[in-house]
Amino acid sequence: MKTLWTPWRMEYVKGEAPSFSGCLFEPPGNSRRDREHLMLYRNETVVVLLNRFPYAHGHLLIAPRRHIATLTELDANEAHALMDMVQKCTHILGQLLNCDGFNIGCNIGEIAGAGVADHLHFHVVPRWQGDHNYMAVVAEIRTIPEHIENTYDAFVAKFDRL
Ligand SMILES: [Zn+2]
Repeated sequence: MKTLWTPWRMEYVKGEAPSFSGCLFEPPGNSRRDREHLMLYRNETVVVLLNRFPYAHGHLLIAPRRHIATLTELDANEAHALMDMVQKCTHILGQLLNCDGFNIGCNIGEIAGAGVADHLHFHVVPRWQGDHNYMAVVAEIRTIPEHIENTYDAFVAKFDRL
């Protein structure tokens, strides 16, 4: 038995995930947060989204507000604001999820695997001791992750304090 029940994947398969015509990292309006788009935080420079299709529980996406594709297009203020937000996100995830480490990275260009190649973004993925081989070893286990909206509700209060 290798059953995985991942409710957001079902929405994905059934095409029910909310969508809008614009860029993923530019939800409409100017609100500081937006549950429909899983936007945890936005200020004048950066935006933080919960990844709807996470590699792991708590997978965050951090992007500049400006629609630019590469690191070299960042100005000094944006570069600082992005790294500052990456730092804050690791702090918040550590508090919320008690994780043991993080993968932090950036896929620049489609060839590098970027899902949204025209808007630069960082991935912050929490890691736990032993999580890498967990599924391979414990083949009899069913994984029933928390629904992504529940994760959003649990996370957003921490971002409100930024
Ligand atoms: Zn964009």
